[in-house]
Amino acid sequence: MTSASVGSTSPTFLITIDTEGDNLWGRPREITTRNLAFLPRFQALAEKHGFKPTYLSNWEAVVDEGYQAFARDVIARGQGEVGLHIHAWNSPPITPLTDDDLHHQPYLTEYPESVLREKVRFMTDLLEQTFERKMVSHRGGRWAFDATYARALLDFGYRVDCSVTPHVSWKRVPGDPNGNGGPDCTDAPAAPYYVGWAEPAPGQPWLLEVPMTILKRRRSPPERWLRKALGRQVDRLLWMQPTGRNLPQLLDVVDSAVADGREHLEFTLHSSEFMPGGSPTFRTEDDIERLYDHMEALFERIARRFTGQTLAEFAERYVETHQPPILPRPARKSSEIGRPPPSAVAAAPPL
Ligand SMILES: [Zn+2]
Repeated sequence: MTSASVGSTSPTFLITIDTEGDNLWGRPREITTRNLAFLPRFQALAEKHGFKPTYLSNWEAVVDEGYQAFARDVIARGQGEVGLHIHAWNSPPITPLTDDDLHHQPYLTEYPESVLREKVRFMTDLLEQTFERKMVSHRGGRWAFDATYARALLDFGYRVDCSVTPHVSWKRVPGDPNGNGGPDCTDAPAAPYYVGWAEPAPGQPWLLEVPMTILKRRRSPPERWLRKALGRQVDRLLWMQPTGRNLPQLLDVVDSAVADGREHLEFTLHSSEFMPGGSPTFRTEDDIERLYDHMEALFERIARRFTGQTLAEFAERYVETHQPPILPRPARKSSEIGRPPPSAVAAAPPL
């Protein structure tokens, strides 16, 4: 382990894994979970570098007995955390929204609030019964998140959300064909912040947003002009997410995060991306080996400067050093107060 020299005031490295079915980009009619058997290799790599993954788990993973055994062991050894991830279209209770939810994969924020809350309630109970731990960490499926969702998370005892993707808008990525797409996070803060909501009572608990690490690199003016005309992302976005072709950019993100004095670095992948053919990104065994080569180099670099924590551990430490805001009376018309929540809250196809 190379993190032994990293001090307690060092920034934090957070590994977030959306733990879910096989190749959901293919919009399967029947969801399988073979990929979950590939998690131990990743966990071993993380542990080797002193890191503690947070497995944000969707329904089909939570009911998979092999995954249950894996995750119980990780939790029991204090080497990771299980949190909540919800794909609205197959998380019970099933309440259809469109003519084909398995195809459209609507955002949970597009369903009525009562349905949203019932899904959060059901999944929270299931996770807590299965793993005998209070659930405190969450990521929305397809990065879904808004004020109503935040309030539901708070009411069910969550402390951390990581659904915000700075610089990215998912507005043009449809869920419900009659809806408005996903959240717009273009102007979302990069640093952690407390999410506000309407009419806080005294002693209101807090929900910490820990945004995904995405850096923006400005392109040249002619490139920007051309891309704007084509309706493309104007600037280059560097995600802390391996693609098998982006190791230099990943290392650049790490070095930039250190240079900028960022408090956290948030890495993400889907569980299905550890299995050959489990995703469009990593189709073959060679792809997976390259992914592991890249993660080895990346984690080695990160371990020199960052301390590994789960999302829950990060939030616990964060709140000790950053007082939750004393929330003012809500503005008359605004449903959001405190630091800006994602103005609503989209790079790789979101799942
Ligand atoms: Zn997902």
